[in-house]
Amino acid sequence: MVKTDSELDRALSGDTRAVARLLSAVEDDDPRVRELIKDLLPRTGHARIIGLTGAPGVGKSTLTAALVGAFRAAGRRVAVLAVDPTSPFTGGALLGDRIRMQEHATDEAVFIRSMATRGHLGGLAAATPQAIRVLDAAGFELIIIETVGVGQAEVAIASLADSVAVLLAPGMGDAVQAAKAGILEVADLFIVNKADKPDAQQVVRDLRGMLALGANEKGWKPPIITTTATTGEGLAELVARLDAHWDWLAESGELKRRRHARAREEITALAFAALRDRVTSSDVDDLAARVADGTLDPFQAAEEILARGTD
Ligand code: GDP
Repeated sequence: MVKTDSELDRALSGDTRAVARLLSAVEDDDPRVRELIKDLLPRTGHARIIGLTGAPGVGKSTLTAALVGAFRAAGRRVAVLAVDPTSPFTGGALLGDRIRMQEHATDEAVFIRSMATRGHLGGLAAATPQAIRVLDAAGFELIIIETVGVGQAEVAIASLADSVAVLLAPGMGDAVQAAKAGILEVADLFIVNKADKPDAQQVVRDLRGMLALGANEKGWKPPIITTTATTGEGLAELVARLDAHWDWLAESGELKRRRHARAREEITALAFAALRDRVTSSDVDDLAARVADGTLDPFQAAEEILARGTD
């Protein structure tokens, strides 16, 4: 990974190959990442993070490619992290993302990367914020996190974003499904894609009905935007709404609040992970034997494990 300082400097100046190497280190949970993040930290906090989530097939990749095009046209540097929390393979859909993104492949101001679970979800959840920091420090103004699917894991990863956009399309990933996944609560914007299909307006109506049932959060009413990702229809409106949400985040103080909440979640998760490691790596059999034969109470046994510290 970071062999020399100059490699880190190259990544910070936006050299995409150096950035890619740093992201591999993050993904591999390289022990040197901790030091790296510490070094990067003063350079972070400037990027705007947009989460895009929705069931497979709703048009996330197509829309992401179109959004990248729109942001590039405005002269902004964009990074895309396609995160698949459920699949341990970097195959099918993610490869598809890359192919669809090929129009941006030679553009140094665009960075596209797929990340998949290597082993367990906890790893990916922990790696994504670090990947965001690397891209942020490397000077990408916009970071789009695209997650595949609608479930608890996707909701968790989408929550890393400043603006969470939920994509729906007629016939797939309908409003009821999104409601079940608890995603209506975290959405800042709803995008009904495939507006060229006849049922699109029905999806909009269903969504409106459901949103009317819930209270609006802190003065922001999530808009419903219809798009046809394949033609670019609705894209300008989407960009405008994303910009409006960004402005609202800053003005209302919500950006600061969200980033604070995210930092809290992150450090809590890291602390729990460290604790879990400590508990599982410690030899509990001797304690278990004593608890089982009634010579030690379980509360004291647990306290003993916690008191052991790390080896
Ligand atoms: P993802 O799985 O959510 O990333 O969806 P994709 O971007 O791979 O799109 C799935 C399919 O829907 C592809 O065949 C796209 O060409 C198609 N698609 C995407 N957006 C639209 C749209 O707005 N209208 C129509 N008719 N098809 C679309």
